Amino acid sequence: MSELLLQIDGKEVTARSGATILEAAASVGISIPTLCHHEKLEAHGGCRICSVEVDARGRTSVVAACLYPVEQDLVVRTRTRKLERIRKSLVEMMLAHAPDSEVLQSLAQEYGADRDRFEKEISFCIHCGLCVRYCAEIKKKNAVGFIDRGPRKEICFIPEIAARECWECKECFPLCPTSALQAAFVLVKALTFPSDAD
Ligand code: SF4
Repeated sequence: MSELLLQIDGKEVTARSGATILEAAASVGISIPTLCHHEKLEAHGGCRICSVEVDARGRTSVVAACLYPVEQDLVVRTRTRKLERIRKSLVEMMLAHAPDSEVLQSLAQEYGADRDRFEKEISFCIHCGLCVRYCAEIKKKNAVGFIDRGPRKEICFIPEIAARECWECKECFPLCPTSALQAAFVLVKALTFPSDAD
Protein backbone atom coordinates (compact mmCIF):
# COMPACT_ATOMS: atom_id res chain seq x y z
CA MET A 1 0.00 0.00 0.00
CA SER A 2 1.43 3.39 -0.98
CA GLU A 3 2.29 6.13 1.47
CA LEU A 4 1.30 9.76 1.20
CA LEU A 5 2.81 12.88 2.68
CA LEU A 6 0.55 15.53 4.12
CA GLN A 7 0.71 18.30 6.68
CA ILE A 8 -1.36 18.40 9.87
CA ASP A 9 -1.13 21.46 12.11
CA GLY A 10 2.16 22.33 10.44
CA LYS A 11 3.62 18.86 11.02
CA GLU A 12 4.80 16.66 8.13
CA VAL A 13 2.89 13.37 8.39
CA THR A 14 3.30 10.17 6.40
CA ALA A 15 0.16 8.07 6.14
CA ARG A 16 -0.90 5.02 4.18
CA SER A 17 -3.19 5.60 1.26
CA GLY A 18 -6.76 4.97 2.42
CA ALA A 19 -6.19 6.20 5.97
CA THR A 20 -8.44 8.93 7.29
CA ILE A 21 -7.26 12.29 8.60
CA LEU A 22 -8.29 11.11 12.07
CA GLU A 23 -6.00 8.08 11.82
CA ALA A 24 -3.13 10.07 10.34
CA ALA A 25 -3.38 12.69 13.07
CA ALA A 26 -3.52 10.05 15.82
CA SER A 27 -0.39 8.40 14.39
CA VAL A 28 1.62 11.52 15.25
CA GLY A 29 -0.10 12.23 18.55
CA ILE A 30 -2.51 14.91 17.33
CA SER A 31 -5.80 14.40 19.07
CA ILE A 32 -9.06 15.32 17.32
CA PRO A 33 -12.24 15.09 19.43
CA THR A 34 -14.82 12.47 18.43
CA LEU A 35 -18.17 11.33 19.78
CA CYS A 36 -19.60 8.91 17.23
CA HIS A 37 -16.32 7.26 16.28
CA HIS A 38 -15.25 3.76 17.32
CA GLU A 39 -12.24 2.03 15.86
CA LYS A 40 -14.10 -1.26 15.43
CA LEU A 41 -17.03 0.33 13.57
CA GLU A 42 -17.52 1.78 10.11
CA ALA A 43 -16.88 5.52 10.15
CA HIS A 44 -20.15 7.38 10.56
CA GLY A 45 -19.41 11.12 10.43
CA GLY A 46 -22.58 11.86 12.36
CA CYS A 47 -21.55 14.07 15.25
CA ARG A 48 -19.21 16.37 13.24
CA ILE A 49 -17.22 17.18 16.38
CA CYS A 50 -14.15 15.91 14.50
CA SER A 51 -14.51 18.67 11.90
CA VAL A 52 -11.18 19.93 10.57
CA GLU A 53 -10.15 22.41 7.88
CA VAL A 54 -8.45 21.12 4.76
CA ASP A 55 -6.76 22.91 1.88
CA ALA A 56 -7.04 20.81 -1.24
CA ARG A 57 -7.21 21.65 -4.95
CA GLY A 58 -7.14 25.37 -4.21
CA ARG A 59 -10.07 25.30 -1.83
CA THR A 60 -10.46 25.38 1.94
CA SER A 61 -13.26 23.23 3.32
CA VAL A 62 -14.47 21.90 6.63
CA VAL A 63 -14.68 18.09 6.58
CA ALA A 64 -15.20 15.25 9.04
CA ALA A 65 -11.76 13.89 9.95
CA CYS A 66 -13.16 10.41 10.62
CA LEU A 67 -14.35 10.09 7.00
CA TYR A 68 -12.00 12.18 4.90
CA PRO A 69 -9.18 10.14 3.34
CA VAL A 70 -5.64 11.51 3.33
CA GLU A 71 -4.29 12.91 0.07
CA GLN A 72 -0.81 13.74 -1.10
CA ASP A 73 0.12 17.31 -0.04
CA LEU A 74 -3.15 17.83 1.83
CA VAL A 75 -2.91 20.61 4.40
CA VAL A 76 -5.01 20.01 7.51
CA ARG A 77 -5.73 22.26 10.48
CA THR A 78 -7.37 20.68 13.50
CA ARG A 79 -7.57 23.77 15.71
CA THR A 80 -8.69 27.12 14.31
CA ARG A 81 -11.09 29.75 15.59
CA LYS A 82 -13.67 28.61 13.08
CA LEU A 83 -13.38 24.97 14.22
CA GLU A 84 -13.54 26.00 17.86
CA ARG A 85 -16.78 27.88 17.10
CA ILE A 86 -18.25 24.89 15.26
CA ARG A 87 -17.37 22.48 18.08
CA LYS A 88 -18.67 24.92 20.70
CA SER A 89 -22.05 25.19 18.92
CA LEU A 90 -22.30 21.44 18.41
CA VAL A 91 -21.59 20.79 22.09
CA GLU A 92 -24.15 23.43 23.11
CA MET A 93 -26.81 21.76 20.94
CA MET A 94 -26.01 18.32 22.34
CA LEU A 95 -26.02 19.62 25.91
CA ALA A 96 -29.64 20.66 25.39
CA HIS A 97 -30.42 16.95 25.01
CA ALA A 98 -28.00 15.52 27.58
CA PRO A 99 -26.94 18.23 30.05
CA ASP A 100 -25.56 15.76 32.59
CA SER A 101 -23.28 13.89 30.21
CA GLU A 102 -19.78 13.98 31.64
CA VAL A 103 -18.27 13.60 28.17
CA LEU A 104 -20.18 16.65 26.92
CA GLN A 105 -19.39 18.65 30.03
CA SER A 106 -15.72 18.00 29.51
CA LEU A 107 -15.96 19.12 25.86
CA ALA A 108 -17.97 22.17 26.98
CA GLN A 109 -15.15 23.16 29.27
CA GLU A 110 -12.58 22.68 26.53
CA TYR A 111 -14.48 24.75 23.95
CA GLY A 112 -16.10 27.29 26.28
CA ALA A 113 -19.61 26.04 25.47
CA ASP A 114 -22.59 27.50 27.32
CA ARG A 115 -24.70 24.61 28.59
CA ASP A 116 -27.78 26.86 28.74
CA ARG A 117 -27.52 28.39 25.27
CA PHE A 118 -30.34 26.28 23.87
CA GLU A 119 -33.63 25.39 25.49
CA LYS A 120 -33.44 21.98 27.12
CA GLU A 121 -35.09 19.13 25.27
CA ILE A 122 -33.82 16.33 27.41
CA SER A 123 -33.87 13.06 25.54
CA PHE A 124 -30.45 11.81 26.74
CA CYS A 125 -29.66 10.66 23.21
CA ILE A 126 -27.28 12.68 20.99
CA HIS A 127 -27.76 10.33 18.01
CA CYS A 128 -24.15 9.18 17.86
CA GLY A 129 -25.46 5.75 16.87
CA LEU A 130 -22.64 3.91 18.64
CA CYS A 131 -24.95 1.42 20.34
CA VAL A 132 -27.01 0.82 17.20
CA ARG A 133 -23.96 0.31 14.98
CA TYR A 134 -22.08 -1.78 17.55
CA CYS A 135 -25.00 -4.16 17.97
CA ALA A 136 -25.55 -4.42 14.21
CA GLU A 137 -21.93 -4.53 13.02
CA ILE A 138 -20.15 -6.38 15.81
CA LYS A 139 -22.82 -8.40 17.60
CA LYS A 140 -25.05 -8.87 14.52
CA LYS A 141 -28.09 -8.80 16.81
CA ASN A 142 -29.88 -5.55 15.93
CA ALA A 143 -31.28 -5.40 19.45
CA VAL A 144 -31.29 -1.61 19.49
CA GLY A 145 -32.29 0.84 16.77
CA PHE A 146 -33.50 4.35 16.11
CA ILE A 147 -37.14 5.31 16.19
CA ASP A 148 -38.76 8.49 14.91
CA ARG A 149 -37.04 11.21 12.90
CA GLY A 150 -35.59 14.68 13.25
CA PRO A 151 -35.49 16.10 16.76
CA ARG A 152 -37.68 13.26 18.06
CA LYS A 153 -35.26 10.58 16.90
CA GLU A 154 -34.23 8.30 19.78
CA ILE A 155 -32.71 4.92 20.37
CA CYS A 156 -34.98 2.10 21.40
CA PHE A 157 -34.32 -1.50 22.34
CA ILE A 158 -36.38 -4.04 20.44
CA PRO A 159 -37.97 -5.74 23.46
CA GLU A 160 -38.19 -9.27 22.01
CA ILE A 161 -34.53 -9.27 20.96
CA ALA A 162 -33.21 -7.31 23.95
CA ALA A 163 -34.87 -9.65 26.44
CA ARG A 164 -33.07 -12.56 24.80
CA GLU A 165 -29.68 -11.05 23.98
CA CYS A 166 -28.81 -8.12 26.21
CA TRP A 167 -28.70 -9.68 29.69
CA GLU A 168 -25.47 -11.50 29.02
CA CYS A 169 -24.00 -8.87 26.71
CA LYS A 170 -24.21 -5.19 27.69
CA GLU A 171 -21.18 -4.54 25.48
CA CYS A 172 -22.66 -1.41 23.97
CA PHE A 173 -23.39 0.17 27.35
CA PRO A 174 -19.98 1.69 28.02
CA LEU A 175 -19.95 3.23 24.53
CA CYS A 176 -22.82 5.61 25.23
CA PRO A 177 -21.49 9.16 25.74
CA THR A 178 -24.59 10.20 27.69
CA SER A 179 -25.61 7.04 29.52
CA ALA A 180 -28.86 7.09 27.54
CA LEU A 181 -28.47 3.46 26.74
CA GLN A 182 -28.59 2.39 30.35
CA ALA A 183 -31.74 4.47 30.84
CA ALA A 184 -33.42 2.85 27.84
CA PHE A 185 -32.29 -0.59 28.89
CA VAL A 186 -33.68 -0.18 32.39
CA LEU A 187 -36.94 0.97 30.87
CA VAL A 188 -37.19 -2.07 28.63
CA LYS A 189 -36.30 -4.33 31.53
CA ALA A 190 -39.09 -2.79 33.56
CA LEU A 191 -41.53 -3.23 30.69
CA THR A 192 -40.44 -6.74 29.87
CA PHE A 193 -40.08 -8.05 33.40
CA PRO A 194 -42.33 -5.77 35.51
CA SER A 195 -41.86 -7.90 38.64
CA ASP A 196 -38.08 -7.23 38.54
CA ALA A 197 -38.46 -3.46 38.57
CA ASP A 198 -37.35 -1.72 41.78
S1 SF4 B 1 -26.36 -5.17 25.10
FE1 SF4 B 1 -27.97 -5.70 23.60
S2 SF4 B 1 -28.08 -3.89 22.28
FE2 SF4 B 1 -26.10 -3.78 23.34
S3 SF4 B 1 -24.64 -4.80 21.95
FE3 SF4 B 1 -25.36 -6.36 23.39
S4 SF4 B 1 -27.09 -7.35 22.32
FE4 SF4 B 1 -26.69 -5.38 21.29
